[in-house]
Amino acid sequence: MLNLLRNSDELSVSEIAEMINLSKPTIMKIMNYYIEKGFIILKGKGSSTEEGGKKPNIFKFNANGGYAIGMSITANKLKSAVTNLKGEILNSLDVDINCNEDLDSILDKIINSYYGLIDKTKVDSSKVIGLAVGIYGLTDYDRGIVFYSPHYPSWGKNIKMQEKIKKRIPGNVLVIIDNLPRFQVFAEMTLGAARNSRNVVSIFAGYGLASGIIFENDIIRGAHKIMGEVGHMIINPYEEQECACGARGCFEVMVSMDRLRKIIDLNKERFPESTLLNNSSNGSIQNLDPEEIFNAYKNKDSLAVEALNDITSWFAVGLSNIILIYDPELIVLHGIYTKAGDEFLKKLRNETGKVALKNVKKETKIKYSELGSRAGVLGAATYVINRFFS
Ligand SMILES: [Zn+2]
Repeated sequence: MLNLLRNSDELSVSEIAEMINLSKPTIMKIMNYYIEKGFIILKGKGSSTEEGGKKPNIFKFNANGGYAIGMSITANKLKSAVTNLKGEILNSLDVDINCNEDLDSILDKIINSYYGLIDKTKVDSSKVIGLAVGIYGLTDYDRGIVFYSPHYPSWGKNIKMQEKIKKRIPGNVLVIIDNLPRFQVFAEMTLGAARNSRNVVSIFAGYGLASGIIFENDIIRGAHKIMGEVGHMIINPYEEQECACGARGCFEVMVSMDRLRKIIDLNKERFPESTLLNNSSNGSIQNLDPEEIFNAYKNKDSLAVEALNDITSWFAVGLSNIILIYDPELIVLHGIYTKAGDEFLKKLRNETGKVALKNVKKETKIKYSELGSRAGVLGAATYVINRFFS
């Protein structure tokens, strides 16, 4: 009933009775319960008259009847946001963190951000329905555990994150821990580029590469909760460079910024007309900013085009494997490559089409995220809302 009102905005008891198989007095009883909880408000009288000539009461979902908090932890930022029950961001807060910062310090920052947002937004803390924290790493959603985070090796393994946070937040607040790309893809489905899709994969490429997978409108995690670790899918067994995981030719290595710079270095003599390296600070390849490379690519600099074409061809192999495994309607890209422009995306679609099955080529869309770096916190908060109402 609450979901009906959430989706329709406002309804009368008769309209609800038509949609669900309950008597009007029963609906009214449930309605009163939610009115008392603050999730539903009486909006007023409807214009049409029911039998007996009485104007019906119109009820409305109260978007400000509760609040959700979402957080994301990456290598250098703890982002957080508070939303109302419709997933609209009311306030956000970003805190700098350091790669491998110790666990207690990060926990302090999580708790400070939680109360910081409540204070800043002036909401009643008892109305916060839950907090979800997305972290880049291997997580067990069911047990609230972070198995391991590559950005925070000092934390060790099997960290009871949910329990540690719950201890510091009084009351019965729902606390959820999951791998960040899962919240990113959830945000895309509820509020972003994948709004009308039931099967979606989002790829986050930055420091490392990971994905979140939506299957039939829900996040899927797999038997060992590692589903989506596509960054370690081996797409080139002949690659020399070793991945952080110990294997060679992993997807994340083949499309990494390190490798992009390496290709530029290896090919620089072949493209003397390129101005890519002249522009960068003292000609050093390591100082070459990804955005400089993307800008040169957009300006058709031959060396930048050569290097990004190489990356695109490997990206296409990775994406076509993902398409064959998960068969999504849509793949949404997050992270550094979203800055590479429309030409890169077009090229990526073409190359993926060449590798994947012919009919797949036509049907799986590839888009850049519309939500950008807000996707993680937004997805975390909307996931809390979703779980609360289901
Ligand atoms: Zn790997």
